[in-house]
Amino acid sequence: MRKPFIAGNWKMNKTSAETKEILAELKPLVAEATCDMAICVPFTDLSAARKELRGSNIKLGAQNVHWAESGAFTGEISAAMLKEQRVDYVILGHSERRQYFGETSETVNKRAVAALGSRIRPIVCVGETLIERETGHTEEVLYAQVTESLKGFKTRDFEKIIIAYEPVWAIGTGKTATPEEANETIAFIRGVLATKFSKLVAENTRILYGGSMNAGNVKQLMAMPEIDGGLIGGASLKPEEFARICNYNL
Ligand code: PEP
Repeated sequence: MRKPFIAGNWKMNKTSAETKEILAELKPLVAEATCDMAICVPFTDLSAARKELRGSNIKLGAQNVHWAESGAFTGEISAAMLKEQRVDYVILGHSERRQYFGETSETVNKRAVAALGSRIRPIVCVGETLIERETGHTEEVLYAQVTESLKGFKTRDFEKIIIAYEPVWAIGTGKTATPEEANETIAFIRGVLATKFSKLVAENTRILYGGSMNAGNVKQLMAMPEIDGGLIGGASLKPEEFARICNYNL
């Protein structure tokens, strides 16, 4: 059984003071939620979020991690630094990182190794661009992203790894993949896991959908058998809407 998981990606939004306010509003709204939940905040908000989330059912997440333990990597953050802030999840290889900051599946892999080494669960993002989909390259792109980002991991590592399928053309655009499209593509990713790792890994790994998921479409998306949850951008900044997403089955 794969427990549903809803994670918010705040991207580069909100100050620490705003973080405290939003999370204080969100906590009671999701107190009865039955899915796993996390909010992935900017690095500077981690401390405020950690304090605000203490004792709640919402876990804390970050949006990236460097692979080295320490050293001359100006502007980067290590896994030990995140762990000290009680971070449980880290988003890796988000399409915005791939698109604007030169992130590759090879560096995603190194970051995932570092995260797991500090007992932080990586949320590994994969997804095709519009042109890749339209030219019939979706499967080839996803195959490469999944196998390269997850290279070398063992069955037990997959107990902690989460995959987020985020078609780039659906992120922040208001365009959602249809539930059937998302389901079919996630089934393909599961097939890659079965071939490259094992059937057990394919059956047990949670694969989320991300891309303009909101309170209006969550039920249809979550009704799909392959979709195990959502990575939510814009809608996760609004406590009421994010709570409606987390409470989709109540
Ligand atoms: C995201 O950034 O991971 C995302 C899915 O964004 P949005 O929900 O705003 O499309």
